[in-house]
Amino acid sequence: MRICDNIKRIRDMIAQAALRAGRNPDEIKLIAASKAKTPELIREAVAAGVDAVGENRVQEMVSKISQGAYEGTPLHFIGHLQKNKVKHVVGQCDLIQSVDSLELIKLIDKRAKMYGICQDILLQVNIGKEPQKKGFLPEQIEEIIDLAKTYTGINIKGLMAIPPIALKKGDNRIYFEKMNKLYVDIKQKRYDNIHMNYLSLGMSGDFTDAIISGSNMVRIGTAIFGSRV
Ligand SMILES: *Cc1c(COP(=O)(O)O)cnc(C)c1O
Repeated sequence: MRICDNIKRIRDMIAQAALRAGRNPDEIKLIAASKAKTPELIREAVAAGVDAVGENRVQEMVSKISQGAYEGTPLHFIGHLQKNKVKHVVGQCDLIQSVDSLELIKLIDKRAKMYGICQDILLQVNIGKEPQKKGFLPEQIEEIIDLAKTYTGINIKGLMAIPPIALKKGDNRIYFEKMNKLYVDIKQKRYDNIHMNYLSLGMSGDFTDAIISGSNMVRIGTAIFGSRV
């Protein structure tokens, strides 16, 4: 299947899921997760119409930027960001989705101020409370948002999560629902300077379930580009 056919099919599935949930399909952002994909393939996805491209590795991203892989589309960072690589990502990415520690918030804030910008970020939540996984625990989120007021170099735009690996279809719904509750609770509290716009949930195998549970940003790799090598 060609990339543009895949994207068309995914857009149809997104629209159906959104309508089933009584929501407007246009409010769901489709992010192409492009790890290990060549600039040529990424450009094909951009041409077919995705809302952004998401990269996992800083080095790979920097190399692909220099090759013009992302021209014409916003760039997101979606992988674990090592502290010594913050300088390469701040200001280069429209959205850093995978901010998983207070230490990282502080470093991004500092770097953004140095560059004279405000960096949009999402907080990554370890919603399955898996010991091996990065991210804030759900019960830490409010405290972090309270603290974030003091970091004027960052702008928290929402939440992101990668739930535990599902053994069967539908297993992740409970985590998606938990994330949606957290997101809605924070939105309703109307913190000063916090505008929660994005709930980033759902990958190739479960994005329709994620949308039905409230996601408005899906990160899709395999279903766009084919299997990982
Ligand atoms: C690879 C990746 C995705 C996409 O996964 P697929 O199952 O290939 O759609 C989404 N989010 C993150 C953070 C990823 O690393």
